[in-house]
Amino acid sequence: SSRSYGGNRCTLYRDSLQVLSSESLALEADLQKAIARNELQLYYQPKVCLKTGKIVGAEALLRWNRCNNGLVSPGLFIPLAEETGLIETIGEWVVKTACRQIKTWTNLGLLIPVAVNVSAYQFNQANFCEHLMEILNDQGVDPAYLELELTESILVKNEELSIRKLKELKSLGVKVSIDDFGTGYSSLNYLNKFPFDTLKLDRCFVKDVHQNPKTQAIVKAVTMMTKQLNLKVVAEGVETAEELAFIYDNLCHEIQGYIFSPPLTDAQFEGLLKSDPELNLPN
Ligand code: C2E
Ligand code: MG
Ligand code: MG
Ligand code: MG
Repeated sequence: SSRSYGGNRCTLYRDSLQVLSSESLALEADLQKAIARNELQLYYQPKVCLKTGKIVGAEALLRWNRCNNGLVSPGLFIPLAEETGLIETIGEWVVKTACRQIKTWTNLGLLIPVAVNVSAYQFNQANFCEHLMEILNDQGVDPAYLELELTESILVKNEELSIRKLKELKSLGVKVSIDDFGTGYSSLNYLNKFPFDTLKLDRCFVKDVHQNPKTQAIVKAVTMMTKQLNLKVVAEGVETAEELAFIYDNLCHEIQGYIFSPPLTDAQFEGLLKSDPELNLPN
């Protein structure tokens, strides 16, 4: 009967929920052990200057090789880490590892600023700034070589406190970027209030921009605005020559994207830096 069919469906539904939650519990349990098991790794993606075509920075992107069984997407495990609070330990590992890398490259004469992504939970810790300075001091890293990438959503919780923290970071010499710009729910007024150095234009305004007049209008407006506000603009996720051509003509300062390089292991990135490659700039 329809009743028992419904009953079955309900059971099926409940079963699949159980599978889902036991899977995410297993994921959480594995993530908890990831640091101790040495399964986390930072990859580095070059940022390229559109004046010179040269590498001028790197973004550190976290990778998790779960039980040495292949990489889990950060889009999947970062939200889990945030929900469970594991992001506190993981975030600290990311900052320490990036600082150690900066130190290593500095010692080799490779002076390259490295940006790390910071999640809301981390940034909103009361001692975030002090802790960051402690790590920089311990590792002997010049704060000018560390950048933080924050998303708009981080800042809405407590505006006044966030502004104070950003000012403190800047006074310490750490650079701060607004990441994924244009995808959050904050107002343009944020650009006025928060003392960012750099705006990272989200890939959704870069993808196929050459074919989309509406996207073009947005990119033009954003770059005009950032010029007045003295913000550096980095275009995220540039993949094609056509996208690059539009971005190049419209005053973005730097790009990051597969057109130049995907995220690389530290060794690969170091090799690339030493070979001193140049992005083919549009004419
Ligand atoms: P995000 O900070 O906006 O990083 C840029 C993402 O775009 C990266 O994805 C990068 O691999 C990808 N990307 C770069 N160039 C291209 C391109 O040309 N085309 C396309 N389609 N994609 C490109 P990834 O590495 O999967 O990271 C996803 C997100 O996970 C990051 O977005 C960031 O929000 C978060 N994340 C990564 N590492 C960390 C971390 O250490 N801490 C925190 N809190 N979040 C992190
Ligand atoms: Mg980022
Ligand atoms: Mg981004
Ligand atoms: Mg993004």
